[in-house]
Amino acid sequence: MAPWSVIRILLVLSVVVAGLLAWAVQSGRVDVPAHWNPWAPLNVAEPPNWLTGYKLQRTAAYPTLCSAVLAASTLEHTAIPDNATGDGCGWAAAVRVDDARFAPAFTLTCSAALSLAMWERHALQPAAQAHFSQPVARIEHFGSYACRNVRGAGGEGERRSQHASANAFDVAGFRLGNGRRISLVNDWEGEAAEVAFLREVRDGACRFFKGTLGPDYNAAHRDHFHLDQGPYRICR
Ligand SMILES: [Zn+2]
Repeated sequence: MAPWSVIRILLVLSVVVAGLLAWAVQSGRVDVPAHWNPWAPLNVAEPPNWLTGYKLQRTAAYPTLCSAVLAASTLEHTAIPDNATGDGCGWAAAVRVDDARFAPAFTLTCSAALSLAMWERHALQPAAQAHFSQPVARIEHFGSYACRNVRGAGGEGERRSQHASANAFDVAGFRLGNGRRISLVNDWEGEAAEVAFLREVRDGACRFFKGTLGPDYNAAHRDHFHLDQGPYRICR
């Protein structure tokens, strides 16, 4: 047999096997743990893996699915009606996050709130445990919704900010369980543990948010991490 026909047979066979496998998993005939099943809904409590990015994206695309997944998480929130203001501001498929860890309450799209819940659980808390043997008790922030344009180095830009659609959240610092406070403005260039913690927290945000900007990006972000679910993938 010519080598190309062997290759062709192998290709057809692998497509058939992959198709059968996909059918068996999707129809529940083969029992795959939910976090390894691309068709199972995202569960915030499960450890992230290489399917998590895909699941987050898919969940964000379906507001009802997003509400259900967020409702099963420990992030305290309430659904709120859509609010279109007509000038490129307002929100759709958003929630009010009224969680003591994130007080005061703020409005955020379900998609960004889901990434926030994933980041808090799988990046922020493990980093605090690793560097300080403490949980994070409070996430200090500058809020989310603001009807404004992107702030460039030279003032107000032309484009609406992700904050204008409640799709972005600005984190200023953290209070640990023992009361110790770590802020971006004071500790980004602080002691070794603070420096390592804050970079790990930033890199962790890049795993769950589309856009993560901090002090390494520009002077406008020297005192906060900007976390968003906008169209652009950026991690600085
Ligand atoms: Zn921001």
